Amino acid sequence: MNYIEKLIDISEGLTYSVKTYGCQMNVNDSMKIMAVMNECGFHYTESVYESNIAIINTCCVRENAENKVHGLVGNIKKLKESGRNKALIVLGCMMQQEGYAEEFMSRYSQVDAALGTSDSAKLPETIYKILTNSERAADLSSATKEIDENARPFRHYRISEFVTIMTGCNNFCTYCVVPYVRGRERSREPKDIIYEINELTAHGTREIVLLGQNVNSYGKGFDEKLDFSDLIQKISDETDVKRIRYMTSHPKDLSPKLIDTIAENPLVCKHIHLPVQSGSTKILKQMNRGYTKDDYLKLCDNLKSKVGDIILSTDIIVGFPGETDEDFKDTLDVVSRVQYGSAFMFKYSIRTGTKAASMADQVDEDIKSDRLQQLLTLQEKYTKKTAERYLDKTVEVLVESTHTEHRNVVGKTSQNLSVALESECQVQAGDLLNVKINEIKTHTLIGKII
Ligand code: SAH
Ligand code: SF4
Repeated sequence: MNYIEKLIDISEGLTYSVKTYGCQMNVNDSMKIMAVMNECGFHYTESVYESNIAIINTCCVRENAENKVHGLVGNIKKLKESGRNKALIVLGCMMQQEGYAEEFMSRYSQVDAALGTSDSAKLPETIYKILTNSERAADLSSATKEIDENARPFRHYRISEFVTIMTGCNNFCTYCVVPYVRGRERSREPKDIIYEINELTAHGTREIVLLGQNVNSYGKGFDEKLDFSDLIQKISDETDVKRIRYMTSHPKDLSPKLIDTIAENPLVCKHIHLPVQSGSTKILKQMNRGYTKDDYLKLCDNLKSKVGDIILSTDIIVGFPGETDEDFKDTLDVVSRVQYGSAFMFKYSIRTGTKAASMADQVDEDIKSDRLQQLLTLQEKYTKKTAERYLDKTVEVLVESTHTEHRNVVGKTSQNLSVALESECQVQAGDLLNVKINEIKTHTLIGKII
């Protein structure tokens, strides 16, 4: 039964919204959802509260991400009662937790369906059944098993676009729920990735960001021997893309070959997101990260000396079970020594089902807050220092947009710093400009074309 055709007959005048929580991977999944919904004839609206069909794509990596979903689902109850909302579908990582979807649906009668991650293909049937029979269901049966190459994301064809190269994770860091909700690591075939990039560049995209939980282990399990460096080379050879970014890199899998690729391939941006999580070797071991403080520092030194003008960014968790003041000092020490351009910093959040959830010595909330504050203050110093390094220097900028609310022209350097022009200029999105930096305003470099 073709549910897309059936929906085209009844979707006239109906709107849908997609609210996305979490990482870029979720953003990408939401684009696939949009592609399917548009094909069924529904009209997109930004506001969840105005839409007839509300889709919520959830994240469960930390507790506060989950709390937001509970709040939103609670608010939609009234819309359901008023008749405006005709279908509420909650999907993604949160639903993927063991036994969670059924429990969630019995708790919230306003939720019509719960689906898994990468489940966009199931939407037409699910929505048809809700709209015609008011049928409620949780279906997590096929999610996270394989990569669905038939599901193409809806694209705005921006100058910079995300391209998923792999999904899932095999690392089982003891704090993290991702391997449980996204399943085992699966890499996309290079030919499919190349096809997608060529389609993007044909429509004006100039930069791609390759996405995966751990891009450095790309290609494991392929018959043909092809790793992440080889993939980057292939993309450079077989597409017209002007810049290549990628995230996330796991420090334990960052090979010397990849460092050479970053150093030698001019298309590869000189920015690497390299989550350290903690500076303490003891805590890193308990997190199952597979490297020590020393290994990590050596890796950063190596990157800096081989690649030259590279900026590093990171993720850090404070208050992992058993983290003492001494351990936290090691984290501060790593931040001072690496001098990251930016960092995402989080308080440890207990995730049911992970190993760390049952570890002794959980850290008090007050201590976590205090450590986070100290870390934020220290990092702010290095974010500022990194930007100031470029004062009076000339940088190459890829223009992403020519008009924003506050600035004339905005783009990014290879190192992922934002740049604005101090006066109006005739340039186009996609241009590569040489800009001399004269000023820094709240982390944005400001200058003029030379
Ligand atoms: N695959 C990536 C990151 C995935 S999750 C990596 O390995 O680096 C994004 C970030 O969320 C992690 O880097 C970590 O810093 C944070 N995170 C994950 N689980 C967490 C938890 N239980 N509490 C607090 N932060 C967490
Ligand atoms: Fe989570 Fe670790 Fe996998 Fe990243 S590498 S997704 S932190 S388990």
